[in-house]
Amino acid sequence: MRYDFASDNAAGMCPEARQAMLDADSGYLPSYGNDVWTERASDAIRAMLESACEVFFVFNGTAANSLALASLCQSYHSVICHEQAHVETDECGAPEFFSNGTKLLLASGENGKLHPDEVRRLVTRRSDIHYPKPKTLTMTQPTECGTVYTLAELEELRATAQGLGLKIHMDGARFANACSSLAVAPGLITRSAGVDVLSLGGCKMGMALGEAVVFFNLELAGDFAWRCKQAGQLASKMRYLAAPWVGMLRDGVWLRHAAHANSMAQQLSQGLCQITGVKLMYPVEANAVFVTLPGPGIERLRQSGWAFYQFIGSGGVRFVCSWATTQSLVDELIAAVAAALI
Ligand SMILES: *Cc1c(COP(=O)(O)O)cnc(C)c1O
Repeated sequence: MRYDFASDNAAGMCPEARQAMLDADSGYLPSYGNDVWTERASDAIRAMLESACEVFFVFNGTAANSLALASLCQSYHSVICHEQAHVETDECGAPEFFSNGTKLLLASGENGKLHPDEVRRLVTRRSDIHYPKPKTLTMTQPTECGTVYTLAELEELRATAQGLGLKIHMDGARFANACSSLAVAPGLITRSAGVDVLSLGGCKMGMALGEAVVFFNLELAGDFAWRCKQAGQLASKMRYLAAPWVGMLRDGVWLRHAAHANSMAQQLSQGLCQITGVKLMYPVEANAVFVTLPGPGIERLRQSGWAFYQFIGSGGVRFVCSWATTQSLVDELIAAVAAALI
């Protein structure tokens, strides 16, 4: 099977991330994050976000999201998320587990985006003691549907959340793709958008593994190191988790790779839309393309050796581009889809 477009985590390490990991692989250094690479990586993230935020490195996105949400809630609280959010559909209950029972309340909204009216409805429909007390809103940027919240949409959500007394978490597993798509300073769509805690994605933008948890709200960060340790998320050789961030954030490498992935997705969607029977499900605003294909076509595409996921929408197929996607791969996939639909 060919996994070229199955997900951006099917791609390997980008050269800059690999080189930084090799650079860190020298000599004896303090463990558990007390090393110079961890310090440099944290500083690079602070510089990128133009904020004196607190930074923690964890192994994956499920840990980043669920530990972040646990730090924002007590067990009797609730978290408002989109019904297609990764925290709801793809984390095996980890947010509920690590927060000792905090409930997710599901909101609908077009194109994977939370609608402020839906958020307000979920929060205000009950205020009695029997309802899990709404405490946090979590949004995914870019969304699970490959769309990107605009500055205006972020501002509306910020105003809604703060008006309702909700803290804000952002799942930025593909944050680089959102920054590239919007072409704005990263701080503008996080710190300035009222985000208290950000899960900042490293893996899908080209690192071997690792995500960062970024606290703009410093009060919430107080015990987070202990939470990470208890959850098995404190790397002893932390330098290997941290160093790739230094390589990625140097000279805009991360944004160049994200821009490339986004532009490959644009070309893929344009090519696919020329094919009779292919329908785009969502606007392509980051590095993912969702299409519907006639059922037999899906089967033929799979039989011709291409792997892809179909977990969102009935009949929907997802293709994801990465730093490693090439023009010729895009052309190959377009040709394979066309052949599958003949
Ligand atoms: C990939 C992804 C994550 C992280 O998933 P892990 O497999 O736990 O690293 C989180 N949120 C979204 C939206 C994702 O796509």
